[in-house]
Amino acid sequence: MAEEATAREFDVLILGGGSAGYAAALRSVQYGLTVGLIEKAKLGGTCLHWGCIPTKAYLHAAELADEARTSSKYGINTSLESIDMAAVRGYKDGIVAGKFKGLTGLLKQKKVTVIQGEGKLVSQNEIEVDGTRYSGKNIVLASGSEAKTFGLPIGGRIMTSTEALELDYTPKSAIVLGGGVIGSEFASAWNSFGVDVTIIEGLDHLVANEDPAIIKVIEREFKKKKIKTSLGTFFEKVEDTGDGVKVTLADGKEFTAEVCLVAVGRGPVTAGLGYEEQGITLDRGFVITNERLHTGVGNIYAIGDIVPGLQLAHRGYQQGHFVAEEIAGNNPLIVEDINIPKVTFTDPEVMSVGYTEPKAKERFGEDNVETVEYNLAGNGKSSILGTGGIIKMVRQKNGPIVGVHGVGKRISEQIGEAQLIVNWEAYPEDVAAFVHAHPTQNEALGEAAMALNGHPLHG
Ligand SMILES: Cc1cc2nc3c(=O)[nH]c(=O)nc-3n(C[C@H](O)[C@H](O)[C@H](O)COP(=O)(O)OP(=O)(O)OC[C@H]3O[C@@H](n4cnc5c(N)ncnc54)[C@H](O)[C@@H]3O)c2cc1C
Repeated sequence: MAEEATAREFDVLILGGGSAGYAAALRSVQYGLTVGLIEKAKLGGTCLHWGCIPTKAYLHAAELADEARTSSKYGINTSLESIDMAAVRGYKDGIVAGKFKGLTGLLKQKKVTVIQGEGKLVSQNEIEVDGTRYSGKNIVLASGSEAKTFGLPIGGRIMTSTEALELDYTPKSAIVLGGGVIGSEFASAWNSFGVDVTIIEGLDHLVANEDPAIIKVIEREFKKKKIKTSLGTFFEKVEDTGDGVKVTLADGKEFTAEVCLVAVGRGPVTAGLGYEEQGITLDRGFVITNERLHTGVGNIYAIGDIVPGLQLAHRGYQQGHFVAEEIAGNNPLIVEDINIPKVTFTDPEVMSVGYTEPKAKERFGEDNVETVEYNLAGNGKSSILGTGGIIKMVRQKNGPIVGVHGVGKRISEQIGEAQLIVNWEAYPEDVAAFVHAHPTQNEALGEAAMALNGHPLHG
């Protein structure tokens, strides 16, 4: 529990201590600004407690389960005895607790004033918390997001990702409503834990925002792992039948399982927080800002998941830094959502940054786009890891690389170079000229760039 705040006036007053809010706080104090950070639950927000970190701990445990099952093909004879979900949860809780302690200590050390409680914007420069008004020369709204539930009764067998992370048993079977990033990651982890998983997705594909070539691979790999899917029809009803759940689709088709995970997207947390009363424009609950994240009202900015666009922790961090730099008068560079790297930590993993082939054709013209697909079958390290997959690069004809996409085990590690390529607007010949260490999956990026430059080495 934070100490009671004694200061009431700040240079920067932030509502919400998640990824976006605490990044804005840390960067602001570096410029000598005084900062009040209001948090009603736990510093670190969704990402640390109910999002990125706990899910990735589960996915790591899931990978170990798969390794134990399959390691005999590498001459290491093991077998998977059982999954102790309470212990997996304990491991996850330990990681989260450690990071929470570190973050709390860091904010204290940097002299960010943490105000524990639920805040409401009551004027253009004041937020009220438990009857006390705090003022800020600048206000930063960072109240984050929560799972959408479409009115479904959450509790017991029907759960969002938050409840699913607290299970201390592995259900025999699960229906995952939603085949986006969160649904696909849970489906992947549960499948590795031995759960019989069915994903129900209303759109025609899993991770539908990815490049079609990547989607094709991930759908094929999920099928191989016996993750079942129902694509292209939306669900209509979800019922707890007492001994399980029944999901009815719009076409009348029914699915049953022991539990149901509702992973149908996340909506902004903005209702009842006084934003509209102060003249801030909301659209379906999201805060509308200009490209410099200013709301158009007083000195009020908005950052993170409440701003329409990609709901990712590193976008929140970036927007947090951005606004702090803006307030400090440093005229920071705008990073557009299209250039923000994305990773889906399924098995196999998906990474992408920039334009997909269809989006590039829409943007630059049908005949003005070139692509290559490099198959990981030609990559030594991928063979060692026992993974298939592809790297796909998209360039503007005679122009820079505008999209890099990949699918394969551990391919998330390649997002670093991929995002530099796209953000530095590198040409294939720039990337092809650099040396990629052997044997790494990183070589696949070099090979793809060489192929896109018209001179494949191994192809
Ligand atoms: C299951 C899951 C997995 C995810 N995995 C990833 C991943 O691997 N990588 C990735 O980049 N992103 C991931 N995300 C998304 C990521 O968690 C969010 O994009 C990120 O947390 C957004 O940060 P934020 O600061 O905008 O909001 P939040 O993290 O939601 O923080 C908002 C904070 O504001 C507080 N708050 C709200 N209202 C008030 C109020 N009135 N008064 C005081 N405090 C208030 C909340 O308690 C919360 O702490 C995942 C999300 C989920 C749910």
